[in-house]
Order: sequence, then C-alpha cells, then structure tokens
Amino acid sequence: MALPNLRCDNCGHHVTDQYNRVFADNDGTLHACSHCRSQKENVQRSRNRRINLTC
Ligand SMILES: [Zn+2]
Repeated sequence: MALPNLRCDNCGHHVTDQYNRVFADNDGTLHACSHCRSQKENVQRSRNRRINLTC
C-alpha cells in the first residue's frame, strides 16, 4: 500500500497523512502547513523587531 505524496499546496513542504486530513479542505487542498505558518510568524516577528529597534 503506497502512501500518497502529501505536500502543502502553498510551499510544497511534506506533511503527514494525519496533518493533511486535519487541515486540508474538502478538495484535498492544503493551503498552509506548520512550515508556512512558522515562516509567517517569523516574518511578523522580524517586522515587529524592526519597528521596535528603529534607532
Ligand atoms: Zn506549507
């Protein structure tokens, strides 16, 4: 039994079958994975840092 090649449709990062089942929409499209989300958070954090650290 071959496992489907499950990837995030946003970034292409590999996700687990369980993750895909929980977060994919009815079409099986995964719009964001934990990888995307952590990247997004990092961008937001660095933006906040830039605002806070303006000299
Ligand atoms: Zn992703």
